[in-house]
Amino acid sequence: MEEAEQLTLSLGEKKFRAKQLMDGLCKGKRISLIPGLPQAFREKLLARFEDCPTEIIKTYYGADGTEKYLFRLADGNIIEGVLMKYKYGNTQCVSTQVGCRMGCKFCASTLNGRIRDLTAGEILSQVLTVNALHAQGRQRGVTNIVLMGSGEPLDNYDNVVKFLRNVSAEWGINISARNISLSTCGLVDKMYALAEEGLPVNLTVSLHNTTDAERARTMPVANKYKIADILDACTNYFEKTGRRYIFEYSLIEGENCDNRHAQELISLLKGRPCHVNLIRLNEVKERHLRALGDKQAYRFLGLLEKGGLSATLRRQIGSDIGGACGQLRAGYLEEEREDGHCAEGPKPDAHGQQSET
Ligand code: SAH
Repeated sequence: MEEAEQLTLSLGEKKFRAKQLMDGLCKGKRISLIPGLPQAFREKLLARFEDCPTEIIKTYYGADGTEKYLFRLADGNIIEGVLMKYKYGNTQCVSTQVGCRMGCKFCASTLNGRIRDLTAGEILSQVLTVNALHAQGRQRGVTNIVLMGSGEPLDNYDNVVKFLRNVSAEWGINISARNISLSTCGLVDKMYALAEEGLPVNLTVSLHNTTDAERARTMPVANKYKIADILDACTNYFEKTGRRYIFEYSLIEGENCDNRHAQELISLLKGRPCHVNLIRLNEVKERHLRALGDKQAYRFLGLLEKGGLSATLRRQIGSDIGGACGQLRAGYLEEEREDGHCAEGPKPDAHGQQSET
């Protein structure tokens, strides 16, 4: 809001126009369609800013009410998002980067590396667009947010923090930080930084294995950050924010779900103020990793519970419309290539191609 006020004054308008502009944007309106803005102001804004930073180009509707979206950014890049409907409200999953450079072997977002970071505005725009579609009267369309779409949020730190401040600001759509979960593959330095921001979001860490060597087989980032250091960063997060943290653990047959892994998880996590979220692997066709069967998944869950951990097996919703973490986008880009179009925007730079090893 401060930036908007400064901008408005610098463009020769009265300060209250900033609030009018931001109110319109927060209702999901384009600059060109916000009612009541002076024409000269509107034109100056349109000369400097995108009128439509994220446009939904395709929606997939699941039988359980889940909606998955493909968004086109102003430069032609494609990202994806999901809205999941629960009794307590609607949770939107947002992307933070086009692609990802972390290189996790089970994840489709990272297949072509990172193309670019999203701006804070592009991340917010995903929420404003979807919120406007579902809001009814004074009732919000989006009540909860998870940063679990494509990208590693802490690899785009400044934009993600700015987004978190804007989406939780009272002048905006005011979604409490407590209703927002940020998921990271464990960039330890940035986990410490986040703890200092005064933004008590729920911290979720993708663990997916119990030893550094085994974790590195599917998550190259494990070569840089050790599990012990991740756990210390979680403890610090809890001390600074008072928030319990969550570990994600995707069950991959033959990789991370033997009895031994359950015992090791228990030794690592028992007594900590944390929860374990077991996830069924969503098989990515470009990779050879297989999901654990349902029966064994419940067995693994039982072992963790017996060992004293708080754990759940994540309910699979929207599975009839496919896609997790980059699969919708990968499928769309493939279709476009087969049709002879080029949907992809700029090619990744050398940096974008690297995985963090
Ligand atoms: N970059 C962030 C957000 C990733 S998405 C992170 O690494 O945490 C949220 C979760 O889904 C992560 O735990 C991620 O490891 C997991 N995930 C990604 N692809 C998956 C797949 N195909 N099947 C199951 N889980 C997957």
